[in-house]
Amino acid sequence: MAYCSGILRHMSDINRRDFLSTSAAAAAIITPVSLARKQPHARKPRAPVAISSGNGLPAVNKAVELIREGADPVDAIVAGVGIVEDDPNDMSVGYGGLPNERGEVELDACVMHGPSHKAGSVAGLRRIKNPAAVALRVLRLTNHAMLVGEGALEFARGQGFKEENLLTNRAREAWLRWRAELSRTDDWLTEDQQVPNDVVPLRDTSDIPFTEGTIHCSAVDTNGDLAGVTSTSGLSYKIPGRVGDSPIIGAGNFTDNLVGSAGATGRGESVIKSCGAFQVVQHMANGDEPTEACLKALKWIANHTRRGRLRNERGEPNFQVTFYALRKDGAYGSACMRGRRTFAIHDGADGRIERCTPLYE
Ligand code: ASP
Repeated sequence: MAYCSGILRHMSDINRRDFLSTSAAAAAIITPVSLARKQPHARKPRAPVAISSGNGLPAVNKAVELIREGADPVDAIVAGVGIVEDDPNDMSVGYGGLPNERGEVELDACVMHGPSHKAGSVAGLRRIKNPAAVALRVLRLTNHAMLVGEGALEFARGQGFKEENLLTNRAREAWLRWRAELSRTDDWLTEDQQVPNDVVPLRDTSDIPFTEGTIHCSAVDTNGDLAGVTSTSGLSYKIPGRVGDSPIIGAGNFTDNLVGSAGATGRGESVIKSCGAFQVVQHMANGDEPTEACLKALKWIANHTRRGRLRNERGEPNFQVTFYALRKDGAYGSACMRGRRTFAIHDGADGRIERCTPLYE
């Protein structure tokens, strides 16, 4: 924070040309190399480490297993996340994810590879259940960083990914109920609204599935090489074409091989506007412990949440965001905006679930 605001103050004091020609200043801003070199965390970890969101225990287990077998961390995490994308019971990711307001599943994902500092991303991808693997092909096989919508689908088809219906019966039923409960004056009814005399009972809609899901996974190998991936079906019942933070490099996912890797889940609009994952990595570059780095980025979001609709009676954000951070030396941490959230970690010894540190209780 102090680092960022210091830079902004500095930038307003000098003109752009002077600024860019001042190599010392440019180096300090464009890359945290000098900072990272001074940090003890530039050490390599003794064992591979992988961190993931609470739904990612199979992902961290798989990622560490593959890294041990010699896989590049980026291949290992994409394979790990693929297990959750394939799982029809996870309604926040891949196959079985909750659809947009028209009943279509639209997926977002991005991948970042530390050693090459390359990134690949797809957004609004339909009918392909492994968007993270498609994003990895964008990273490896194109000169681009991001493909969206029809273009992303065409690319995936060309790469041999199988097209299929991603809407499971369970997700379809949730969407039908959500639609029927939207308004009491439209023509959509649920089964039990079909009562005599059009007397529509008051209903509790809190059981309609709505995901605050997504999977993020970051990993580091024993060379200190990092990678990160985030994959999601996005906000449930979103407006078609809505893109969240997950495929936005620097928002839902960011990796700097000199420092660490971070990712986010939760209200994507707030993570985009805060460059969330980038902030977390920058805080680690400045010497913050991973959990502290996550808490600082959450605090920044809280301080910039000005719309009353998004704040509770105490003025705090009323939505969830969770950050996950992995440092180059294998240190890790996670923090959430509030309440009880969990994350998955494999530290080379075993895979387990741990509690995120909440900013607000
Ligand atoms: N971050 C995801 C998005 O905004 C959703 C989530 O994690 O709940 O698309």
